[in-house]
Amino acid sequence: MSGPQDAAETRRARLVLNLRSAGVTDAAVLNAIEKTPRDLFVPHLFKERAWEDSALPIACGQTISQPQIVGLMTQALTLDGRARVLEIGTGSGYQTAVLARIARLVYTVERYRTLLKEAEGRIKQLGLLNVITRFGDGGEGWPEQAPFDRVLVTAAAPEEPTALLRQLKPNGVLVAPIGRGAVQSLRRYVGDGQGGFRVEELGDVRFVPLLAGVAKDL
Ligand code: SAH
Repeated sequence: MSGPQDAAETRRARLVLNLRSAGVTDAAVLNAIEKTPRDLFVPHLFKERAWEDSALPIACGQTISQPQIVGLMTQALTLDGRARVLEIGTGSGYQTAVLARIARLVYTVERYRTLLKEAEGRIKQLGLLNVITRFGDGGEGWPEQAPFDRVLVTAAAPEEPTALLRQLKPNGVLVAPIGRGAVQSLRRYVGDGQGGFRVEELGDVRFVPLLAGVAKDL
C-alpha cells in the first residue's frame, strides 16, 4: 500500500541518503534532520519541495538553508547534550530546531521581527522547550548569556566575527560563512584553550549577508 504517509517517509529517507553521500555522517545530526518536519518551515507555495535538498525562499527576502548545509554545519560544531549554543540568524527556525534536538540550550538571534515570531511559533509547535529567542543584531552576539560552548552563524559575515569569537569559551567552536561576495568560505574556529584559534576551511557556501542593525519589517 502506498499513501501520503509513505510518500513523506520516502522523501525523508531519500534526504537522509543524500546527506550521507554529501558527508553528513554524524548519527545525531542525521536523526535530528530526519525528525524535523521541514515542511513546517517553508512557505505554502514550497511545501511540496520541503524535503528536497535545496535552499528555498522564506519571508523578508531571506532563505531557509539547504539541508545538506544545515547538516554539515551542525556536524562541524561537534555538539553534545551539554552544549549551550548561540545561533545568529534564526530565519525560519529550521536550523534552530535541528540544533535544539542535540544541544542542551539554543540561544537564537534574528533581525526581522516577523521571521522571529513565525520561528517561535514553529519551535513551540514542535514542543522544543530549550530554545531562547531574541530580536536584535546578532553581530553583537548575546553578551548577557556569554560565554557559549558553540556559536553558529547562518548569514555571511563580511570578515572574522570578532565580537562573536570573544563570546566563545576557550575550547569552544564557532562555525560561520565568511566573505563579502555571493560565494563565501565556510570556516570553523576551534579555541585552543588559551585565547587563540585554529581556523579550518570547510568549503564554499552561499548565504544571505549578515547585516548590521535590526530590520524594519514591511
Ligand atoms: N538558519 C536559517 C537560515 C537563515 S537565512 C534557517 O534555517 O531558516 C539568514 C538569516 O540571518 C536571515 O533571517 C537574516 O534576517 C538573518 N540575519 C542577517 N543579519 C543578521 C544579524 N545581524 N542579526 C541577526 N540575524 C541576522
